[in-house]
Amino acid sequence: MAKKKNYCSFCGRSDDEVALLVSGISGFICNDCIEQAHQIVTEAAGKAEGAANGQSSSQWSRSMNWKTLPRPADIKAYLDQYVIGQDDAKRYLSVAVYNHYKRLCQSVGDDGVEIEKSNVIMVGPTGTGKTLMARTIAKLLKVPFTIVDATIFTEAGYVGEDVESILSRLLQVADFDVEATQRGIVFIDEIDKIARKTDNPSITRDVSGEGVQQGLLKLLEGSIVNVPPKGGRKHPDQDYVHVDTRNILFICGGAFDGIERKIAQRLNTHVVGYNSVQNVARIDRNDLMKYIVPQDLKSFGLIPEIIGRLPVLTYLNQLDRKALRAILTEPKNSLIRQQEKLFLMDDIRLTFDEAALEYMVDKAVEYKLGARGLRSIVEAIMMTPQFELPSSGEKTFRVTLDYARQQLEKSTLNAMQG
Ligand code: ADP
Repeated sequence: MAKKKNYCSFCGRSDDEVALLVSGISGFICNDCIEQAHQIVTEAAGKAEGAANGQSSSQWSRSMNWKTLPRPADIKAYLDQYVIGQDDAKRYLSVAVYNHYKRLCQSVGDDGVEIEKSNVIMVGPTGTGKTLMARTIAKLLKVPFTIVDATIFTEAGYVGEDVESILSRLLQVADFDVEATQRGIVFIDEIDKIARKTDNPSITRDVSGEGVQQGLLKLLEGSIVNVPPKGGRKHPDQDYVHVDTRNILFICGGAFDGIERKIAQRLNTHVVGYNSVQNVARIDRNDLMKYIVPQDLKSFGLIPEIIGRLPVLTYLNQLDRKALRAILTEPKNSLIRQQEKLFLMDDIRLTFDEAALEYMVDKAVEYKLGARGLRSIVEAIMMTPQFELPSSGEKTFRVTLDYARQQLEKSTLNAMQG
């Protein structure tokens, strides 16, 4: 009687076509398939190990090496190199980012303690460094990061972008790696622009305010969101990517113009009794921002649910003269250093007299442009030398007070200020 043939369950070849056929409970595997399977297993293990060491096929590693992550003091020290002052905000931000890493590294063990995220909101006048801080931190981060402007969003069904497009951007930054996206950080700028226009819930629709806040709430809370990968408006025949926002850290920033008035109102109305009288005497009327509490955001028009999802509240100070002077030269890529570098590329050594720098600061204060104005002032003063010097053969150039004044006075910037 002929011997019954057996076949490899993987490649289908019979026992007389292969060198060896190993039998299992309900099938066979040949020596070639064993070798191939071994190769696949080794490769997969190598990938997992690479990821654990911080390398992976995507530029974002799947797991973090806890030991090499920057500590809050390291993060702050890094920010110090680029951002002047704003110590409180820097500390809050450093801790928030560090805790974000911790959360990503956590394993929920027997103790059942799960570290939840604490989204951040930074309040401070325009041009005081909120976006700069976010941009700077992005350079240091080990997770995908994006900055979006809240003013582009409108309620679904209206012209503008859906709030979900925030996640489209993060997805793009993460090279469409969904897992990396889910561990990212989003900075939402100008969050105050989606405040409700009045403190009372509106009867009519508030297209750019409350509706958008409601949409945003869904993301902040942590939910699975259908994200149009290319951004923009959602439409029915589009493919969506499902992104879980539970672990995405949201940092919001806004100027909240006039919020000091709300803070002052609250401080005044709460003055009842002897203790309060004592407290109010100690209040620094020139710097009300440091007394900000979540309730003030509500008076400004953020809905309580949103405020509840932004538990870390910090503020930025108005930049004084001293800070503006420091901004000119101290940050690693300060405006003056940038000018020096530009000229050095033409082999010209550029120097500024202290009096010229002081003059620039005076003008920024006078024009009420703050730090943002410094750049325009420096550009206006340096326009002519930038045009003329590269072809002049000069090797040095000194900006004196007289020169700075003369250049600024003939610039359009001066004309605009009247
Ligand atoms: P905003 O608070 O409105 O987001 P930005 O961060 O965009 O302000 O600041 C505008 C510009 O002003 C920055 O690009 C930077 O050049 C300068 N600037 C503002 N604040 C600071 C600061 N604290 N330190 C250094 N530069 C600053």
